[in-house]
Amino acid sequence: MLTCTRRIEWDAMHRIPRHESKCRAFHGHRYVAEITCDAPELDDRGRVVDFGVVKERVGGWVDQHWDHTAILMRTDPEAAPVAEANARLGRPVYWLDQPPTAEVIVAALAVVAQELLADTGVTVVAIRLWETPNGSAEWRR
Ligand SMILES: [Zn+2]
Repeated sequence: MLTCTRRIEWDAMHRIPRHESKCRAFHGHRYVAEITCDAPELDDRGRVVDFGVVKERVGGWVDQHWDHTAILMRTDPEAAPVAEANARLGRPVYWLDQPPTAEVIVAALAVVAQELLADTGVTVVAIRLWETPNGSAEWRR
């Protein structure tokens, strides 16, 4: 089996409601996602998929929706002032139905990445999301 992996990075703020410690406060991360693709065979140029296609499609979506904004839980009781300020400042908050942990964010990215790459013939087989240099969560098909 041959796969290829494209790395995508962005900066965002979140907080984990009801977290036992400091992650309950608003704070930011440099997120790093490693998106691994598989294809039935290599294309006529010897690739699973051009890295640029993953960058443009998935990276483009991430730039639009997640970079330099907040990724928050829809029912977060502390979120309203952040949402109001960011809407005014041109970077609306991205809402999730669950706490925005690395696990929940990587699962959301897996849905998006599969949709955005669906017509390329490749399959997204794994995504590892680094929230810090020492902590990551992985989605696997
Ligand atoms: Zn965090």
